[in-house]
Amino acid sequence: MSPVAVVERDERVAELLELVMERNAFQRGRLEALGLGTGSRLEDLPPLTKLELVADQERNPPFGTNLTFPVDAYTHVHQTSGTTGRPLRVLDTADDWRWWRARFAHTLEVAGVGSADRVALAYSFGPHIQFWAAKEGLQEIGSMSVALGGMTSVQRLKTIGEVGATAVWCTPTYALRLLEVAIEQRLESTLDTVERVLCTGEPGASLPAVQSRIEEGFEARCVDHAGLTEAGPFGYPCPDGHGLHVDEREFAVEILGEDMQAAPGGERGELVLTPLNRTGFPVLRYRTGDIVVNSDERCPAGHDDRWLPGGIVGRTDDMVVIRGMNVYPSAIEEAVRNIDSSGEFRITFYTEPSGLDEVKLEVELEEGSEARRLQETMRQQLGIRVRIVPVAPGLLPREEGKARRVVDDRAPRWQRP
Ligand SMILES: [Zn+2]
Repeated sequence: MSPVAVVERDERVAELLELVMERNAFQRGRLEALGLGTGSRLEDLPPLTKLELVADQERNPPFGTNLTFPVDAYTHVHQTSGTTGRPLRVLDTADDWRWWRARFAHTLEVAGVGSADRVALAYSFGPHIQFWAAKEGLQEIGSMSVALGGMTSVQRLKTIGEVGATAVWCTPTYALRLLEVAIEQRLESTLDTVERVLCTGEPGASLPAVQSRIEEGFEARCVDHAGLTEAGPFGYPCPDGHGLHVDEREFAVEILGEDMQAAPGGERGELVLTPLNRTGFPVLRYRTGDIVVNSDERCPAGHDDRWLPGGIVGRTDDMVVIRGMNVYPSAIEEAVRNIDSSGEFRITFYTEPSGLDEVKLEVELEEGSEARRLQETMRQQLGIRVRIVPVAPGLLPREEGKARRVVDDRAPRWQRP
């Protein structure tokens, strides 16, 4: 970041602090409890977790106290998916909603989507912000939104073909599922006009093996982006290089280790964000739970904004410690997707009678002999032994949205020998 940009960011943080100290009971309460307030530096503020916001909302239903303005000023309520605990309601004012719209429009522009595009939204519109904000962004740049909610995969494929959609927007898991159905039903030609697959919601599309599988299957570019209901759409794709960028005029970016200190250069850490211009439901130093690599390098294309090489490489809540090693399911997925004939998979963490934790990987393989190759890759890349159980293609369950491929059956500590 340039020295001028740092000064601008600090000024914005100071304004934000002034605003929340005056008007936001939740933020004022937690800062005052630590003797902090207007004039505090960003790095002095306590990192904020989703749990704190959820607890506040439970104590003060239905919206909690993290509100800078009277409830009447808010125009949108969405909720988090609740994959890790209770869902959280997040409110936006009309101004904040315009911010979402502009951020999504920016991501789409960078991804090369324009007014001539017809974008198929391959999901149902639920309470999650992603769907609505995506549609707003498309409206802002003048693209055509093709809603595919409430349809089967076959109906979606046929619609994509009939309207000549140029882009499909979905989770990476669903993009792979759609391909599978297209092949099964001999509907591959419905995807002929698709030039881009816009992925979101899971780390998958940042994994090189998943990305190239989507690109080869669709014969289209696979574009990743990232966002969170609580923090906003923070990650836009690097149009030339790989990975994601974070717009630093909109977000103060920190990458912290488990001790909540800056992660060393080149190491993984948790992405901690402060959206600078969304004020209705502000989050200061928000722990996103997304694991990224702390790199101070510029991206290969030389863009100014902070670069996250490899995008989101995992989630803190996904990480499992097996015999002292941090194991990310996304790293296992990357190894699986590198085997051309692999299909769906399921990872189970479990405890042996001896008390040692182990990893079992059930994976659909066309040739059982590939299990050995996979095991060797895991040993080399993850440094752990993974028990591989090859299963016949089509046997494991398929899901439409975010996949649940991880089962944690490990015994609690007190039950161990
Ligand atoms: Zn770049």
